[in-house]
Amino acid sequence: MSDTSVAELTFCPLAGDAASLARLLSVEGALRQGHFRLLSGRHTDKFLAFSAIAAETAALDQIASWLRPAVEAWAPDSVLAPTTAGVGLAATLARMMSLPLQLAAAGPEGRPSVLVGTPAPLAGRVLLVNDVTTTGTALGALAGLAETSGGVVAGAAWFASRQIGGELSLPFPTAHVADVDLPSWPEQECGLCSTDPAPENARDLN
Ligand SMILES: [Zn+2]
Repeated sequence: MSDTSVAELTFCPLAGDAASLARLLSVEGALRQGHFRLLSGRHTDKFLAFSAIAAETAALDQIASWLRPAVEAWAPDSVLAPTTAGVGLAATLARMMSLPLQLAAAGPEGRPSVLVGTPAPLAGRVLLVNDVTTTGTALGALAGLAETSGGVVAGAAWFASRQIGGELSLPFPTAHVADVDLPSWPEQECGLCSTDPAPENARDLN
């Protein structure tokens, strides 16, 4: 297991500036090289560990301030995030905008499926926050949970998408800081599996 170099990486800033973003992606442990199974089930040789970036409060403040103009325009009443690496970003955005934060725990399939604690009903407009997306399935699950809990999805914000220019076609407004080119592929097409039958589970890493 080793870090991969940000210099070898193609990424596209959508909010904030390229130099600051490169600094965030260069944090030790943020970009890992290996053989990973993503939550979507797809396999990849590069993993973007948001937990490494989120370990610094200043980094979270910077990312949240980049996202804030977009998400504030959606006039959210609360923030909903899965209990994974995106919690720090969700908490920072909630604090900046003085909004309540609600967390969703993952079900057996690793998707956010149940509200944590003894939550108040999710009335009003709910801002969904996550860390890194591949297919947007987790955001879809989070949106479903917001709606069945009585809320309306105001929009979704996250740190990075794992492909350049990929559209997730979600039925609400979205904002994220960067597209990062981190190719992934279906398990049955994975060349790494022939020599390593046991990829690391991304959900255990973040
Ligand atoms: Zn594989």
